Amino acid sequence: MKIKALVMDMDGTLYDQEGVKRVTAATISRTKEYLRRKDMASRLPRAVIEETIDAIDRSGQTSRYIHAISKRFGVGYRRFDDYVNKDDPRKLGIKRDERLIALLLSLSKRYRIVVFTNSPDIWAGKVIRALGIGHIVGRNMVTNNMMKGYLKPSPQAFNTMLRLTRLKKNEIIFMDDNIDNVNAARALGIRSIRVVNNGRSSRNSIYSILKRMQYKGRDGNR
Ligand SMILES: [Mg+2]
Repeated sequence: MKIKALVMDMDGTLYDQEGVKRVTAATISRTKEYLRRKDMASRLPRAVIEETIDAIDRSGQTSRYIHAISKRFGVGYRRFDDYVNKDDPRKLGIKRDERLIALLLSLSKRYRIVVFTNSPDIWAGKVIRALGIGHIVGRNMVTNNMMKGYLKPSPQAFNTMLRLTRLKKNEIIFMDDNIDNVNAARALGIRSIRVVNNGRSSRNSIYSILKRMQYKGRDGNR
């Protein structure tokens, strides 16, 4: 079966792990800021706010707790998302990446380039633009907001992505830095590559993978 699309995770795949650390730290501090705002105090019991902040500090995770609060108290998730993701990715070191642009531009002549991320669309759009690949990805993005609560690595997330992009699982190559996501995709029979963007040059950095794919595609993908 001919490969039609490269389906790529975003955070930690299209930019490096150092960037991910900065983004995670910013997300946690923005989330706590939001929970401590005056308007939240009038809508949520103080104990819930403090418990949530505690849970966020312990786990390093934010969105599942905010989802829970939104459901329980009817606080809009969208407004929370807008607030937490208001930072400019460029201020967190996510910058225009000429090497990535050139590789994806060349591969986009043969493959559709799809971004498949657990991040919300507001953040994903900003990151894609900051990296300079907005024109290459276009509308081929599957984000948190489209996955109805089933995020990667759940099989439902992969099925949603396939449905929305109208691709079959044997028509794509999936790339992600998260091993659980890669294993989940493989379990579904999706060809997958684990990306390692840890700052050292690696055979499995996104640059090396895309570069190998350029050559492979020339003869091996008919
Ligand atoms: Mg990732």
